[in-house]
Amino acid sequence: MMPASRTALEGALAVHGLCLRGGWLPTADDALPVLPARAAAAVVWMVGQVGSACWRAFSGSRFFADGQPCLQACPVQPFGPGSYDVPACADHLHRPEGAQCMQHGCLARRACPVAAALRYEPAHAAFHMKAFAQRHC
Ligand code: SF4
Repeated sequence: MMPASRTALEGALAVHGLCLRGGWLPTADDALPVLPARAAAAVVWMVGQVGSACWRAFSGSRFFADGQPCLQACPVQPFGPGSYDVPACADHLHRPEGAQCMQHGCLARRACPVAAALRYEPAHAAFHMKAFAQRHC
């Protein structure tokens, strides 16, 4: 649903680190593309970024995980900006679905391309996963 006012539009854009840079009332000479339901555009808004606000929004978005397969590998997605949801991870480990993590090690760690040759062997990883799960039951 489209924001109903300039203030609402500014608020919706601010969430993404963007802002209004201006706008104009279009005429037929502007040859704008046809909108759904053949409605005419009342105002054309210019949207852009100012300063570093877009980077703060980006760091909290799902797109931040591009190029970081570890963040996508975990089935419970416990990773937030500067945080790690330990109870969500531990809850998963105590379920049958958590067997892969328990037996072979954290899927996120196994997906990390950094120092892949230095990963724990499955038995070693299982030892640590068992200790972690017991500590957080
Ligand atoms: S152990 Fe499993 S549930 Fe916990 S963070 Fe790693 S991949 Fe996610």
